[in-house]
Amino acid sequence: MPDPNGFLRYDRRLPARRPVPVRITDWREVYPPAGEELIREQATRCMDCGIPFCHDGCPLGNRIPDWNDLVRTGNWDAAVESLHATNNFPEFTGRLCPAPCEAACVLGLGGQQPVTIKQVEVEIADAAVARDGLGPRPASTSTGRSVAVVGSGPAGLAAAQQLARAGHAVIVYERDDTPGGLLRYGIPDFKLEKHHVDRRVAQLTAEGVRFRTGVDVGVDVTAEQLRAEHDAVLLACGALQGRDTPETPGRALRGVHQAMSHLVAANRVVAAAGDGRPALAVLPDGTPIDAAGKHVVIIGGGDTAADCLGVAHRQGAAGVHQLDLYPQPPADRDAARDPWPTWPWVLRSYPAHEEGGERVFAVAVQEFVDDGTGQVRAVRIAEVTVEKVDGRRIVTAMPGSEREIPADLVLLAIGFEGTEEQPLLAQLGVARNGRGAIDAGPDWQATDGVFVAGDMHRGASLIVWAIAEGRAAAAAVHTYLGGVGELPAPVDPARQPLAAR
Ligand SMILES: Cc1cc2nc3c(=O)[nH]c(=O)nc-3n(C[C@H](O)[C@H](O)[C@H](O)COP(=O)(O)OP(=O)(O)OC[C@H]3O[C@@H](n4cnc5c(N)ncnc54)[C@H](O)[C@@H]3O)c2cc1C
Ligand code: SF4
Repeated sequence: MPDPNGFLRYDRRLPARRPVPVRITDWREVYPPAGEELIREQATRCMDCGIPFCHDGCPLGNRIPDWNDLVRTGNWDAAVESLHATNNFPEFTGRLCPAPCEAACVLGLGGQQPVTIKQVEVEIADAAVARDGLGPRPASTSTGRSVAVVGSGPAGLAAAQQLARAGHAVIVYERDDTPGGLLRYGIPDFKLEKHHVDRRVAQLTAEGVRFRTGVDVGVDVTAEQLRAEHDAVLLACGALQGRDTPETPGRALRGVHQAMSHLVAANRVVAAAGDGRPALAVLPDGTPIDAAGKHVVIIGGGDTAADCLGVAHRQGAAGVHQLDLYPQPPADRDAARDPWPTWPWVLRSYPAHEEGGERVFAVAVQEFVDDGTGQVRAVRIAEVTVEKVDGRRIVTAMPGSEREIPADLVLLAIGFEGTEEQPLLAQLGVARNGRGAIDAGPDWQATDGVFVAGDMHRGASLIVWAIAEGRAAAAAVHTYLGGVGELPAPVDPARQPLAAR
C-alpha cells in the first residue's frame, strides 16, 4: 500500500544540475544521479491514484504508480522488470522525454507539483545497468521468418528488439556509420552520453539483431532486393527534412546553415575525440561550422534550437541570440486554454538556457545581412504578431521595429517537413502525405508487407512516441508473419496526445 501522505510530507525536488561554469567546459551530461535517498523520497510522493492520469499521458502506458511504489520500498529488481515491461529504452526517455506523464500527474492539478516521474524512471534505468539488468534476452526458438528494419533511431531499435525477442531474424539497415538515429548524431552528449546507445546496440546484437551500417536503402540496396530477402520490411527513417527559408534575402550567404548541419558536425567531433581526428566541427565538404569566437543567432524555439545553444556555449561562442516567432509563453498553465491533464503551452527553459545567451520572442528575420564578401554579418529582425486565419499562419511585422543583431553563424532550427524525399519511397510505391509523413493503415502497413513507424509516420515528434510506435508496429509485423501470440501494442496509428475535447 503506497504512502497516502507522502506528497504532504515531501516537496518535489530534483538533483542539482552540474554547475554551469563546470559543465560548459565538457560534453558530459548535465544531471548527476539523484541518489537513492532522494529518489525514494520523491517516489513516496506518488498517491497510486485510482485513475492514474500519468499513465494516460504516456504513449507507452508506463506502469508509473507500480514502479514508483517499488522504488519507494527499495524493490529495485522488480522496478526494473516493471519499467522494461512497457519501455525498451527507459534510459533514453528518462533523460530526454519532456514528460507528458508529469503534465498529466494528478499532483499537478491546480498548479501543484507533480511527481518527479522522469527522474524516478532514469534512476530505475540506471539501476538496471548497475545490476546487469541489460543482459540479453534472446528468443528461445526461431520462427524462421526475417524482417528488415530501415533506420536505427528509437523506433527502429524498439521494433528490432521486440521482433528479435519474438524469434524473428532481424537486420537493421542504417545509412549512418553507427546505429542510433537522432540519439547518435542529433542529440548532443550533454543530454545523452553515447555509451547508453552503445550499450543497447550491444544488447540487441547479443539478442541476434544484425546491424548493416553505411547502407542507404534505396541506393546501396534496392527496395526490391530488400523485399526479396525478407518476409517483411519496417520503415523507421525518421522525419529529417529540415524546414528552410529560401525566400528570406541573404539565405545563400556563407555562415547561414541548417541547425542539424551544426549539431551533427559537433556531435561527430565529440564522438571522434581521442582518435586523433581534428577537433573543429566541419561539414562533410570540410567547411568549418564551429561557433568558437562567433556571434551566433539561432532561429527557432524547440529542442533543436536549445541543443544548438548548448553546443554553441561549449564550442566557445562570443555570444548567442535565440529568436522565436511567437510571444513569450506564460510561466504557468493557462487552464482555460490547456486544462489539466493536457500538455500545457508554458515557457520551457532547458538547462542550456541557464548557460547563457539571450532569448528574443515575437520577432521574425527580414534579411540575413551580407558583410560585402558573401559572408553573413548580421540578421535584420522585426517585431511581429502571428495569427491563424483559416488554418494559415499570418505573420505581420510592426512598422519601425526593425533592428540588426550581429551574426557570424546563423542556425535555422525552424522545424522539420517530414521524412526525406528519397529513392526508397518511389521504389516501394509509397508517397509522402501533405505533412511529409508516410500514412499507415490500422495495421501499420504503408503498402503490402511494408510497415512504417516513428517520426517517418507521425512527423517530427518525441522519443517516447518513436518507441511506442516501434513496439506497436513490431506487434503488427509479428501478426502479419503468423507469429504465436501477440506482442504489446501501446498505440494505434491514429493515436494522438491527450487533448481537451
Ligand atoms: C536536435 C534534436 C533534439 C531532440 N531532442 C529530443 C529530446 O530531448 N526529447 C525527445 O523526446 N525527442 C527529441 N527529439 C526528437 C527525437 O529525436 C525523434 O522524435 C526520434 O529520434 C525519432 O525516432 P525515429 O526512430 O523515428 O527516427 P530517427 O531517430 O530520426 O532515426 C531515423 C534513422 O533512419 C536512417 N535512415 C533514413 N533513411 C534511410 C535509408 N534510406 N537507409 C538507411 N537508413 C536510413 C537515418 O539515418 C536515421 O538514423 C529531438 C530531435 C532533434 C532533431
Ligand atoms: S498521477 Fe501522479 S500521483 Fe497519481 S499515480 Fe500517477 S504519478 Fe502517482
